[in-house]
Amino acid sequence: MTTSADLFATAQALMPGGVNSPVRAFGSVGGTPRFMVSGSGPWLRDADGNRYVDLVCSWGPLLLGHAHPGVVSAVHAAVDRGLSFGASTPAEAQLAELVQQRVPAVERIRMVSTGTEATMTAIRLARGFTGRDLVVKFAGCYHGHEDALLVAAGSGVATLSLPGSAGVPAGTVADTVVLPYNDLAAVEELFAGRGEQIAAIITEAAPANMGVVEPGAGFNEGLRRITAEHGALLILDEVLTGFRVHPAGYWGLSAGGAWAPDLFTFGKVIGGGLPTAALGGRADVMEFLAPLGPVYQAGTLSGNPVAMAAGVATLQHADDTVYDTVDGLSRQLQAEVHTALDAAGVDHSIQHAGNLFSVAFGTSDTGVHDYAQAQAQDSYRFAPFFHAMLDAGVYLPPSVFEAWFLSSAHDDEAVETVVAALPAAAQAAAAA
Ligand code: PMP
Repeated sequence: MTTSADLFATAQALMPGGVNSPVRAFGSVGGTPRFMVSGSGPWLRDADGNRYVDLVCSWGPLLLGHAHPGVVSAVHAAVDRGLSFGASTPAEAQLAELVQQRVPAVERIRMVSTGTEATMTAIRLARGFTGRDLVVKFAGCYHGHEDALLVAAGSGVATLSLPGSAGVPAGTVADTVVLPYNDLAAVEELFAGRGEQIAAIITEAAPANMGVVEPGAGFNEGLRRITAEHGALLILDEVLTGFRVHPAGYWGLSAGGAWAPDLFTFGKVIGGGLPTAALGGRADVMEFLAPLGPVYQAGTLSGNPVAMAAGVATLQHADDTVYDTVDGLSRQLQAEVHTALDAAGVDHSIQHAGNLFSVAFGTSDTGVHDYAQAQAQDSYRFAPFFHAMLDAGVYLPPSVFEAWFLSSAHDDEAVETVVAALPAAAQAAAAA
């Protein structure tokens, strides 16, 4: 049998760190990353023959679990018709309509292949539309690996304790202003001084790349008000939260139609596990994109028919029951994690936004509301916790700065496996 260790050794000789995306390398938790060979419902199977309850769900896309029969058969049917045409196909409008039904403020949409492309294009579009250069982002928010947004970024940048990234020229980030998350006064102050130079604020609808952090009451609405007052755009990044925490994303959960950003970015669930992402929003802004407008953007595989089929099938199957199930599972697991950590005497807070949650160690007094608090936590407790869970058959995101992902396929057996693993993991965290 070729083991994960063998596969990792081979991969390290071929790929930097043996991986094609950094956090997969187990850099902050240590040990051998597991090489996965199949997934079914809530379960993953590795090359060594072990079975895990998957709480990563491909980092978000798999709202319906692995190999959902409805999604798989839609993908098979699309594959049989051909893999890519480099021309428009009916499925693109089908997915666009499904998005618009859920988020009516998406008057126009453009499909791209990754979340990074979606946010990168949204920034270019905001700059082109407003004729301004400055972009505001918040510390700890991750929007993909686009140069201009790779400052004070969360996700793998936080996991690997990197200040940003080498290879990003100072000039590229000179027009990016980073502010502390959840600090509306800092936003007001910046706009009072430089409001007419600011093209856009980009923000995660609810941050989940510094662990999960809930936007404070009125924070997102405040960003909407301030940007509108100064003629800047608001870009709500729902790559991670979109169609996962609610049929209409975190915007649907929290704003309920009372206000809307100018642009949304989507990814993950919209592609159901295949590479699709999108940006969408106000028609007058979106029509600044080529071929109608002067802002250029393109993609050989944009709107790929197989990926569209996966996205359409995923959204069609993601009905209210799916969201109720994931919400209920999330509440149940949050309570179980809290109980186990309390019993082991591990100080912590359970961070949540909708059905997304994560654990922050040593933060019970304040909880985590910004990046400074996220970074100040007792993150050394996570690696032993993670490995105890892994040994007991639970595959968590290998970083304390990532959310735990559930699916509607997580059944009683999966939940019981997680619950049974928690006491020993909590003891391991306590002993760290
Ligand atoms: N925005 C957010 C909020 C994300 O969580 C991510 C990825 N985790 C991205 C953008 C980038 O998406 P991708 O990895 O598909 O480029």
